[in-house]
Amino acid sequence: MFIDSHAHIDGPEFDADRDEVIRRARDAGVSAILNVGTGDPHGGALERAVELAERHADIYAAVGTHPHDARLFDERAEERVWKLAASSPKVIAWGEIGLDFHYDNSPRQVQIDVFQWQLRLARDLSLPVIIHTREAEAETAEILQSHWADSNLPGIMHCFSGSAELAEKAIELGFSISFSGIVTFKKAEELRAIAKRVPLDRLLIETDCPYLTPIPYRGKRNEPAYVVEVARCLAELRGIELEEFARITTHNFGTIFKSRLG
Ligand SMILES: [Zn+2]
Ligand SMILES: [Zn+2]
Repeated sequence: MFIDSHAHIDGPEFDADRDEVIRRARDAGVSAILNVGTGDPHGGALERAVELAERHADIYAAVGTHPHDARLFDERAEERVWKLAASSPKVIAWGEIGLDFHYDNSPRQVQIDVFQWQLRLARDLSLPVIIHTREAEAETAEILQSHWADSNLPGIMHCFSGSAELAEKAIELGFSISFSGIVTFKKAEELRAIAKRVPLDRLLIETDCPYLTPIPYRGKRNEPAYVVEVARCLAELRGIELEEFARITTHNFGTIFKSRLG
């Protein structure tokens, strides 16, 4: 059984065939999906993610404001996201939050402030966090060190594509490292070298669908069933049978969210 630790299947990309996508995931052996709500925190997208999780026993939700939308996070948004996180038992994480200095869709200082703000909220709710970071490694590590390390709560570095130093730092901070379809790409030699060295008990797999479709499905819309290809790539890299690798990563997910999974 596989777990897709990070998917976005509540969005319009899946409106036409969402039930079939979920069925295909189950048929492929995906036993759980963590669906991460993103978008304007005032626009209803996070509510949509939680509703999806509430309709399916094997789907869980994370809520939070992505660094892209940090400029939209205010006190009203705080209240709305907090209420969602506190009121639904299917919300098992706060995220995705972090810094994205590649796209700079929100001003950097706003991203930093809102990242720290949401780390505080996650701590208050004792929720693990899901971190998105791109071209902001030093800043991300520093903020996690100063605003999260002493919480003793777990977290996930999602869709990891950073440096070996960031992976090391994240592990030191108690985080797990989640790999997406990027690890299957031809040019991802460096990333595979990092994936080879992450302690087995800190490894997770995800699709981040609808983006980042793994080989051999490149060019198609990504979906949770394809998390098997991410697992296949990493299992081979680590010299482990696919079934054993699935068991390990499923167990790791269970350890992070132990008190919250039904
Ligand atoms: Zn992300
Ligand atoms: Zn994502």
